[in-house]
Amino acid sequence: MRIDVLTLFPEILEGPLHASLLGKAVAEGILDVAVTNIRDFATDRHRTADDSPFGGGPGMVMKCEPIFAAVESLRAKNSLERVILLSPRGRRFDQRMARDLAGAPDLVLICARYEGVDERVSQGLCTDEISIGDYVLSGGELPALVVIEAVSRMLPGVVGDWESVRTDSFYDGILGAPQYTRPPVFRGMEAPAVLREGNHAAIARWRRKEALRATLRRRPDLLEQSIESDRELLAELMREEQAPEKENEP
Ligand code: SAM
Repeated sequence: MRIDVLTLFPEILEGPLHASLLGKAVAEGILDVAVTNIRDFATDRHRTADDSPFGGGPGMVMKCEPIFAAVESLRAKNSLERVILLSPRGRRFDQRMARDLAGAPDLVLICARYEGVDERVSQGLCTDEISIGDYVLSGGELPALVVIEAVSRMLPGVVGDWESVRTDSFYDGILGAPQYTRPPVFRGMEAPAVLREGNHAAIARWRRKEALRATLRRRPDLLEQSIESDRELLAELMREEQAPEKENEP
């Protein structure tokens, strides 16, 4: 998959794109990430990419022309089917969106800075606007990396064992199960015996049940669309979760 990132600060992306799983995916050619400096498409002597806002007010606004020119320069290599502006005003990014974007042939991610971009970038160039959460960062580079990493995990071959992706939080709508490793007992806290006994069916059932328990306790909103095959485990969980309260009743 090809991903083009447009930014005024290419150096912010360099380290993360070459480390760990993302770096391996790039090195193996599963992911082809190209970073373009928007300033290279400014045509004036000072390579101006921003200007003061119409109507006054603080800060600077990123200009339309260099961003349009930068995106249009990608036409030979990128289908431009998904041109995405990272913006706190965008749709909130989630796992479902990551899976959807992983199905696209390629992506363009536009990172803004300052007060943001001229609205005509969104209006005339972008197919999507994505926010990574309800807070404001100083630029779209970290949000772009968040999108790239989440999308890349959905591409076959990026994560060595697909089972690891399939059992991650949010993959099928619920949180992941708790994990344990050696030692079996640490400071009086014991790893569940079932995980150490080698009964694969019992381990799978325990993990599914604990994933549901975590979801019920921490993110009950995610269970609104619960899966039919979880009905029996959920009923068992509900009984267990309600039991201590009953014992406390007079
Ligand atoms: N004035 C803008 C607003 O109120 O929406 C915020 C501008 S912010 C300082 C500069 C840029 O950082 C944004 O245009 C966007 O590209 C990026 N950015 C900041 N927070 C973000 C978020 N939560 N999700 C995605 N991008 C974000």
